[in-house]
Amino acid sequence: MFDEINLTLRPEFSQKFKDGYPLISKESVLDWSEVLHEGALLNLHDAQNNFVAKGYYGVQNKGFGWVLSWDEKEKIDVNYFVKKIKDAIEYRKEFFENEETTAFRVFNGEGDGVGGLSIDYFDGYYLLTWYSLGVYELKSEILQALKQCVEYKGVYQKKRFDAKGKYLDENDDFVCGEKAPEPLIIKENGANFAIYLDDGAMVGVFLDQREVRKTIRDKYAKGKTVLNTFSYTGAFSVFAALGGAKETTSVDLAKRSLPKTREQFSINEINLAKQTIIVEDVFNYFKYAVRKKALFDIVVVDPPSFARSKKHTFSANKDYVKLLKEVIQITNAGGVIVASTNSANFSMMTFRDFVNAAFKELKIKYKIEERFSLPKDFKVLENFKESDYLKVLFIRKVI
Ligand code: SAH
Repeated sequence: MFDEINLTLRPEFSQKFKDGYPLISKESVLDWSEVLHEGALLNLHDAQNNFVAKGYYGVQNKGFGWVLSWDEKEKIDVNYFVKKIKDAIEYRKEFFENEETTAFRVFNGEGDGVGGLSIDYFDGYYLLTWYSLGVYELKSEILQALKQCVEYKGVYQKKRFDAKGKYLDENDDFVCGEKAPEPLIIKENGANFAIYLDDGAMVGVFLDQREVRKTIRDKYAKGKTVLNTFSYTGAFSVFAALGGAKETTSVDLAKRSLPKTREQFSINEINLAKQTIIVEDVFNYFKYAVRKKALFDIVVVDPPSFARSKKHTFSANKDYVKLLKEVIQITNAGGVIVASTNSANFSMMTFRDFVNAAFKELKIKYKIEERFSLPKDFKVLENFKESDYLKVLFIRKVI
C-alpha cells in the first residue's frame, strides 16, 4: 500500500517514544534521506535495532510525522482506522446521544491515535481536516473506515497543509454523500448556529469554546452589558444575549463578521435592537471606548495567536499583557473579563502570569473565578499535553 522505511532514532529520543510520545520531530531521527514520499510508513528502531514504534511521514509545522502504533505486528490499513474511529466514537457516546448539542469533535488527532487528522460532526455531516500531505495520502483508507463506522448525510474536508498549517482554498470541500444546506443549522446546548461547511477555512463556530459559551450564558450574562472583542461570528455575544444580557457589542476587523453575526442572532430570535456589531480594529475600538468612558460588565477577549492588521501586529505571547491592560480599563469594577487564548506557545501558568502582570501594573486587584482548557471531545493524550492549547480564565475585577 505505501512505502515502508526503517529509520533509527537518535539515542536520546528512543525512551520518549517507548513511553508513548507520538510526535516524530525532525531531530528525533538520525537520517531522513531515504524518506521521499509524504505518507510513507516509518518503522522506528532504537540504536540496538529494536522495534520501537511505527508511524507515517507527513511534514507539518509541528514535526515530520506521527506515531500510529507501538505494536510491531499491527498493520496500518482500513481495519486499523476502523478500530481508531470506533474507539473515538465510543469515547463520545454521550455527545451522539445529546439532542441539545449536535456539533462536536469526533476525532482529535493524536489524542485519538492518528496525529494530523481531525473529524468534526455537524448534525449528520462529517468534516475531515488534513494537517499534512502525508495524512492526506491515507485518505482513501480513512474514508473507507469512516464509512464502515458511521451513517452520514455527507462528508466534507479541509486541507490545511501548507508549511504553516494554513487552509488551501480549492473552492470545493465537499467529498461525498449529500451536500449540506447552506447554512446548516446545528444546535449547541439548545442554541442555534449557522454553519457553512464549504465557505473557506472556518465554518462559523469554534467548537472548543462550547463550555465557555454555556458558562457565560448560564452564570454571568443576566442583566449585564457585554463587550465581545475579536468576535468573529459573535458566538459569545449570542450566548450572552440568550443568557439575558442587557446589551451586547461585538467588535471584529473582518467585514464578513457583520452579516455573519447578524445571522447568528436572528436564527436564535434575538432582538437586534440591543445588539451592536462593529467592524473595526479592536485596538482602535479601545481608544474610542476610553475616550467615551465606556465601561462594560463583561468583556470577552479571544484574539488569534497571531494577527496583522493595517496598523498593528499582535502576537499572543508578546502582547497579551498589553491587551489585557486595555481591557481592564474598560471593564466595570466588579465586572468580569473572559480572557482566552488558543496559543500553544505558552502554558496556563504563563497565561496566569500575564493576567497577574497586567493587573499589577495597573494596581488593580482581581480574582480568578473559572478556568477552562479543551473540552472532553477534544481528547488530549496523556503523553502529549502540549496539544491542549486552549486556555480561558474568567477574571473578576475586584472593587
Ligand atoms: N472569539 C471568536 C473567535 C475569534 S477568531 C469565537 O469564539 O467565535 C479571531 C478573530 O479575530 C477573527 O474573526 C479575526 O477577524 C479577528 N481579528 C484579528 N485581528 C483583529 C483586530 N486587530 N481587531 C479586530 N478583530 C481582529
